[in-house]
Amino acid sequence: AKSEGRDTYRFFNEEMNYEATEQLNIRVGLRKALELDQFQLFYQPQLDIISGKLVGAEALIRWQHPEFGMVSPAHFIPVAEASGLIVPIGDWVLQEACREVARWRDAGMHHPVVAVNLSALQFARGNIEQTISNAVADAGILPQMLELELTESIMIHNTERVLATVKRLKQKGFIFTIDDFGTGYSSLQYLKQFDVDKLKIDQSFIRDICEDEDDAAIVRAIVQIAKSLGLKTIAEGVETAAAMALLQQYQCDEVQGYYVARPMPAAQFMQFLQQHSR
Ligand code: C2E
Ligand code: CA
Ligand code: CA
Ligand code: CA
Repeated sequence: AKSEGRDTYRFFNEEMNYEATEQLNIRVGLRKALELDQFQLFYQPQLDIISGKLVGAEALIRWQHPEFGMVSPAHFIPVAEASGLIVPIGDWVLQEACREVARWRDAGMHHPVVAVNLSALQFARGNIEQTISNAVADAGILPQMLELELTESIMIHNTERVLATVKRLKQKGFIFTIDDFGTGYSSLQYLKQFDVDKLKIDQSFIRDICEDEDDAAIVRAIVQIAKSLGLKTIAEGVETAAAMALLQQYQCDEVQGYYVARPMPAAQFMQFLQQHSR
């Protein structure tokens, strides 16, 4: 799948001096993609580490380009952020993720919470509070079914305003997680300021957790801090049974990663749900 990915992404990996043109190409393409409905959400399972039960699904955007195939968000999200298009794209992601939860429910599934990634510009420019509230209301689902992943870039800008927004949304029942935890410059500061529910331990600490004692120590420490604050922890990028066993030993609550399953299209996730919702 890696080599196949390399080919599909080649167009967006041109030489440095083509970068401006490339950005422009992507930007024009992104605007069209919204109109032509070329985005789609993949879902990656999140399991409770003890029971093995499916507790969540992270929604990850994909761009199905008619010529270039599946384009990774790593390539187009930065352009979407720089051009402001992330606001309408982010709105679409929120609406579609909520509609998907309603589809799971309507199919009679015992469904998990859906986790959505947010960008800083959605807080700075869009009316994020209204968008989020409308998304669940329009889909007819409860706020408790939507988890919002915050990154440092969101919390660092306009901290006071973001704090107030998060507080109000939390009161309505929405769930908040700090994404990529441990990689920010002041992760602990945000922990003190933001009243979140969960920490997602960044995959850079999980990758070599079985070989690197420092990574292992950091993960253990994050779990301990979370426990003392009454927060849950989820490890992302879990690729092996050995990593899974170690995380269980460290009392991390949840896992997400290729070892469980790769992100998958909605239809395939529905099947996964059928197998795991007994
Ligand atoms: P992220 O939020 O940190 O998402 C986790 C990334 O790790 C995903 O990449 C996922 O496919 C990948 N991953 C999951 N399990 C494993 C594993 O076991 N090993 C490895 N090596 N990787 C794993 P993806 O889907 O390419 O997304 C990349 C980034 O794009 C995301 O990082 C997120 O920052 C951004 N992104 C994706 N969807 C959205 C979206 O709807 N809105 C916004 N604002 N950003 C998004
Ligand atoms: Ca994420
Ligand atoms: Ca992450
Ligand atoms: Ca990341």
